Amino acid sequence: MDAQTNDAPAVRQEARPAQVDVVVVGAGFSGLYLILKLRKLGLSFRVFEAGSGVGGTWYWNRYPGARCDVESMQYSYSFDEDLQQEWKWSETFAPQPEILDYANHVADRFDLRRSIEFETRVTAAHYDAAARRWRVETDRGEAVSARFCIMATGCLSAPRAPEFPGLESFRGETYHTGAWPHEGVDLSGKRVAVIGTGSSAIQAIPVIAKEAGHLTVFQRTPNYSIPARTKPLTPEYEAEWKSNYAERREIARHTAVGNYYDRSKLSALDVSDEERERIFKDRWAVGGTRFMTAFKDLAVNQAANDTAADFVRRQIREIVKDPATAELLAAKDYPIGTKRICADSGYFETYNRPNVRLVDINAHPIREITAEGLVAGEEAHGFDVIVFATGFDAMTGTLLRIDIRGRGGETLADAWEAGPRTYLGLMTAGFPNMFMITGPGSPSVLSNMMVSIEQHVDWVTDCLDWLRDRGVEEMEATLEAQDAWVEHGNEVAYKTLYPSAASWYMGANIEGKPRVFMPYIGGVGVYREKCDAVAAAGYEGFRLAGGAADKEAAAD
Ligand code: FAD
Ligand code: NAP
Repeated sequence: MDAQTNDAPAVRQEARPAQVDVVVVGAGFSGLYLILKLRKLGLSFRVFEAGSGVGGTWYWNRYPGARCDVESMQYSYSFDEDLQQEWKWSETFAPQPEILDYANHVADRFDLRRSIEFETRVTAAHYDAAARRWRVETDRGEAVSARFCIMATGCLSAPRAPEFPGLESFRGETYHTGAWPHEGVDLSGKRVAVIGTGSSAIQAIPVIAKEAGHLTVFQRTPNYSIPARTKPLTPEYEAEWKSNYAERREIARHTAVGNYYDRSKLSALDVSDEERERIFKDRWAVGGTRFMTAFKDLAVNQAANDTAADFVRRQIREIVKDPATAELLAAKDYPIGTKRICADSGYFETYNRPNVRLVDINAHPIREITAEGLVAGEEAHGFDVIVFATGFDAMTGTLLRIDIRGRGGETLADAWEAGPRTYLGLMTAGFPNMFMITGPGSPSVLSNMMVSIEQHVDWVTDCLDWLRDRGVEEMEATLEAQDAWVEHGNEVAYKTLYPSAASWYMGANIEGKPRVFMPYIGGVGVYREKCDAVAAAGYEGFRLAGGAADKEAAAD
């Protein structure tokens, strides 16, 4: 068993019927909460998890320096008052081991583990339209029949490493940040390469630099990063949160990104240069990604955004001593925040270390990986370890790695050939009775994910309860509702600066992936209201069949 995961004593396993009401795929924070809710509903279900423990993202991403960029007091479940009062976070931004401990604590506290089949990957899900059931297959050779299938598979759970020529010839060790060995990696004194400078790399680089003999960072696109300034939680701060938890959580649920913190009502262009500078300096000093809420228009107005980007570039030039390195690190080609803004702990300072070097792979492309290291431009670099911090096939990758076939045998890959199309990010037309938790077309990765996960799980399980009460056997997004939602999603996205960046939100990190803005940027609060209104109207935009739905149709 892994040191950080299931060291709990063996747990009583539930019966494993071949026919159930619901199959859940994934046991991250989405899957764990689903188990609790499905149990309360008294539905029969099975849960498959590819990993050997719970926690999803926090189970897999154990790279050095991994931590949350949402404040600890807010990156947690809100569904249980005792849980949120009793759990203690150590820092303002929790490190990965602590978040994994929290996931394990929740699993134990609510006795969830007995419902999960670990080390079991779902390989296929085919819809039998005549039976109105999904046939779900696993890599253990089992097939389960379920009325509903809930994909709690995560948005950032399909790690990808570019296929550099010669990779297999490398004689050293290679790792991906998103699949870091559970026993850890000894980098002491070694010559290490990190490829990539996204959020994962920016967290890992300062820690790796301290341990490695020498670190070379290969950068394709520089990233904007704000110091996280994580610090121990004071008892006063914790008490203040805990005595106001219910109220603050409720406010957060109706904000744009699901976080409780001050958002400015000012435009960056409506204040004097001195005032703007003071406000940015204050935010920079406080730390964290809330920097982006210093003014209300940083995500939508290029001129306003330029002021923030310029401020961050100036901080980088102040921190990094070598002017050429500073210039390479200062992002210029896309608006700040349109690629996920990073939060770091000493990232830019790391380039002042004598054992760290930055290589710009735009000027010196990685041509091949060799037995000894890699060749970038004309230079051969020798390494003992290569770390791929090259990200994920985000939002769609994990789902498309499963052979999903809907009504009439159409594959999800075909249905999403031009990019994901969903109604509310919850369902796709042609794939009845299959729900996605934080799917493309919902706020998901643009939000505090815990808030979005709870909202989706509550909505889906309320829906299952409603369907059961009415004997409804089939629910499917209509094409009209889906088309309208996709159009609305695009309309809102293109009012912002986001689509102008070659980000993973746009699918731009994967060659050949369709360029569409995948998450819904209309805001967590607005989105919640829309979902609630759809439910209150008898699941408007969904076609229902069986039980009361058939009777109503016959009466019409
Ligand atoms: P996941 O945690 O991804 O869990 C999905 C699970 O499904 C995984 O355990 C996976 O093994 C399993 N699975 C997938 N496919 C299959 C299959 N075919 N068969 C069986 N099992 C399968 N969000 C924030 O809000 N704030 C943050 O600070 C933040 N930091 C992050 C840091 C990193 C490094 C990453 C990668 C993501 C971060 N996120 C953050 C997003 C994070 O993914 C979510 O916050 C949240 O943990 C997602 O939970 P989930 O259960 O929906 O998905
Ligand atoms: P990422 O943001 O996609 O970054 C991947 C990096 O690898 C980018 O710098 C990218 O460059 C580079 N890259 C990709 N392919 C390459 C290639 N062929 N050659 C050279 N470089 C290449 O991935 P990530 O850092 O793992 O983060 C993914 C997301 O997970 C984040 O955006 C965030 O949502 C979440 N996350 C959050 C935290 C946190 O702070 N809590 C930490 C880690 C991750 P380009 O930019 O040029 O594509």
